[in-house]
Amino acid sequence: MAQKMKALVKKFAKPGIWMYEVPVPETGSNDVLIKIHKTAICGTDIHIYNWDEWAQKTIPVPMVIGHEYVGEIAAMGSNVQDVKIGELVSGEGHIVCGHCRNCRAGRRHLCPNTMGVGVNRSGCFAEYLSIPVTNVWHCDPRIPEDLFSIFDPFGNATHTALSFDLLGEDVLITGAGPIGIMAAAIVKHAGARNVVITDVNPYRLGLAKKVGVTRAVDVSKEKLPDIVKELGMTEGFDVGLEMSGNPHALNDMIDVMFHGGKIALLGLLPNQTVINWEKVIFNGLNLKGIYGREMFETWYKMQAMVQSGLDITPVITHHFAIKDYEQGFEIMKSGNSGKIILNWVD
Ligand code: NAD
Ligand code: ZN
Repeated sequence: MAQKMKALVKKFAKPGIWMYEVPVPETGSNDVLIKIHKTAICGTDIHIYNWDEWAQKTIPVPMVIGHEYVGEIAAMGSNVQDVKIGELVSGEGHIVCGHCRNCRAGRRHLCPNTMGVGVNRSGCFAEYLSIPVTNVWHCDPRIPEDLFSIFDPFGNATHTALSFDLLGEDVLITGAGPIGIMAAAIVKHAGARNVVITDVNPYRLGLAKKVGVTRAVDVSKEKLPDIVKELGMTEGFDVGLEMSGNPHALNDMIDVMFHGGKIALLGLLPNQTVINWEKVIFNGLNLKGIYGREMFETWYKMQAMVQSGLDITPVITHHFAIKDYEQGFEIMKSGNSGKIILNWVD
């Protein structure tokens, strides 16, 4: 095997991302080495690219970044048994400790010692990635590889959307980013009545319409209470999925929830976000924070939903060969995209 590989490296503590030759990562006795086929760009990668405050305090330099991928098993450690060379795999990007109370109870998504692939340790924007075999997802080869390359954010959408009962419910999603749009498709698939999604970006609201939302609302032009009336909803929304990270969006949501409504919070809100606590308390709202994906129930649900007809393909808007990665990052930064896939093999 080649000792060196191409990778996108956060090499310097300043804006940018650079293609370098780096050593192929080592494969420990419980690890697999994955030959990467496709990767996708996440909002987190843009934070790292821009070298914002979060990235500066989080990302070690130099490091290979990236955490959304699909590829094939190229090698495995001596303790690894349940994978085959050449098998199509994706992988959970949160590497958990395995010995804390939550890990031992099977609640691995709540492990306090989580390490992120491409955030705290070497990532997948490379020809090869090494991860513990416990993080491998075995891909159904009947499903297109493009979809597996976005299973990580699809998993964020799935974990959030399936947190609450959806059948016959009215659901509000704030933020029509890639994750909000995938959540809208899931919520419809799971039998919601009205699915309303908000944003301020017309391109993204247009994409949301392609997954069949009841209403895509530009909150810079329309007000949610008017939409509630228009749809003949007498009580307010039963379920809210906050996927913008914008404090105004959360407050808009709290204003239109039914008493006893349930809100899942995925978007990363600023710490100083102020909300109307009186409404939360007197209206008996339930707020639930979401981090990552449940290991591996979320992954089972994703694969099963695709097998049973869920179509999230409208969220994939661009493909680039890896040599043109800068174009992919530029378009992602513009906000006028859904998911952008970078191909590592021809
Ligand atoms: P994104 O930034 O692409 O999408 C957010 C969308 O919100 C954008 O389209 C933006 O125009 C829209 N928006 C801005 N202001 C708004 C407002 N007032 N009302 C409605 N919409 C508004 O992000 P994404 O990749 O789709 O991810 C969604 C959120 O989830 C982000 O905040 C991201 O950081 C977060 N995230 C959290 C986790 C987790 O584990 N908790 C994992 C992945 C992503
Ligand atoms: Zn743990």
